[in-house]
Amino acid sequence: MKILVINSGSSSIKYQLFDTRKPYPLCRGIVERIGTRKSLLTHQKLDKRPLVNNVYAPDHYQAIRHIYDIITNPNLGAIRSLSQIAGIGHRVVHGAEIFTQPTIITNEVFNVIKKFSELAPLHNPPAVLGIDACRKFSKEIPQIAVFDTAFHQTMPQKAYTYGIPYRFYKKYSLRRYGFHGTSHMYVAVKAAKRLKKPLESLKVITCHLGNGCSITAVKHGKSIDTSMGFTPLEGVMMGTRCGDIDAAAVLYLMEKEHLSIKEADDLLNKKSGLLGLSGVSNDMRDVNKKALSGDKRAALAIEVFIYRIIKYIGAYIAAMDGVDAIVLTAGIGENFTPLHQKLKNALKNTLKKFSARILVIPTNEELMIARQAAHVLKNAPFLKAK
Ligand code: AMP
Repeated sequence: MKILVINSGSSSIKYQLFDTRKPYPLCRGIVERIGTRKSLLTHQKLDKRPLVNNVYAPDHYQAIRHIYDIITNPNLGAIRSLSQIAGIGHRVVHGAEIFTQPTIITNEVFNVIKKFSELAPLHNPPAVLGIDACRKFSKEIPQIAVFDTAFHQTMPQKAYTYGIPYRFYKKYSLRRYGFHGTSHMYVAVKAAKRLKKPLESLKVITCHLGNGCSITAVKHGKSIDTSMGFTPLEGVMMGTRCGDIDAAAVLYLMEKEHLSIKEADDLLNKKSGLLGLSGVSNDMRDVNKKALSGDKRAALAIEVFIYRIIKYIGAYIAAMDGVDAIVLTAGIGENFTPLHQKLKNALKNTLKKFSARILVIPTNEELMIARQAAHVLKNAPFLKAK
């Protein structure tokens, strides 16, 4: 079954076209700098070198048109016509409490996703544009929304409830949602395969450590707690995000520095984390290079980053009363070997006690979205499977 996966950001759209029998895409690419005069389309067909072209993409609609053109191009594309696509899987960050599963996008579903833009003002609006464009230019192809929050909807109430007056949960749906769900689920499934045991019998802690970082306790295949919260700011420290911080410290800073809500938001989301602490960069490679050259603040930033991961792992071992595997994934999780070594040392006794392993497993959110979209289509009897 051929599935096109679309991941729409505010100024870029990434795409991958899968034949779901294969684990790699037939072609993939990105339209970048949408809305500027310098939009770029980078496209790569399986085993070929990437091609970069200037394109006219003043908005997401035009960007989707370029994607449709290139994937059906006789030389560069991977299909002859859009009619070969069985479904389009869209990454949608926020599905709130409504969407616990990947969902076919009807008019009603579309309107609800639009409504959730309020909960994820940076992430849901571009997804809405991507979906709208696909619906406009290919209304005959079923569209499926795959939500970052869905995997965490199994969290018990005690894990997702904040200690503030309960009426705010009722009034604003203010609670922990968690993100990166598709990635956590994908690597948890892979971990079970590696351990040759059913996921339903395992206690797994999945650490998605990339630009954004989150850690999840996956007990018997279900997310029972996760470090990101109402927004992707909570939890471990990240490239530019501070992670957990005393809420009163934020109020104190706002008062002392005369910060507006927007300025405080920028400070915590864009100027903190590895970047804010090291003063060097949000990229672990740069921070590490600087730390190795003797820079104390860069070294401190890495120490804080790793220590907080260790604390969350400890908390989730307690929450699950045990652990079988700790999975490291995404850019930092997969590649930053000092982290692997430090975790092994810090958790030596714990790993021994539970006969647990640390596994490095590359994530593949796009493949997971394609597979989930295909699964939804196969189980939708009113749609003819292609
Ligand atoms: P992602 O969001 O998964 O693409 O991860 C991006 C982050 O991974 C970058 O900001 C880098 O800090 C980090 N990263 C990628 N490669 C390496 C590496 N070889 N060593 C350390 N960090 C890396």
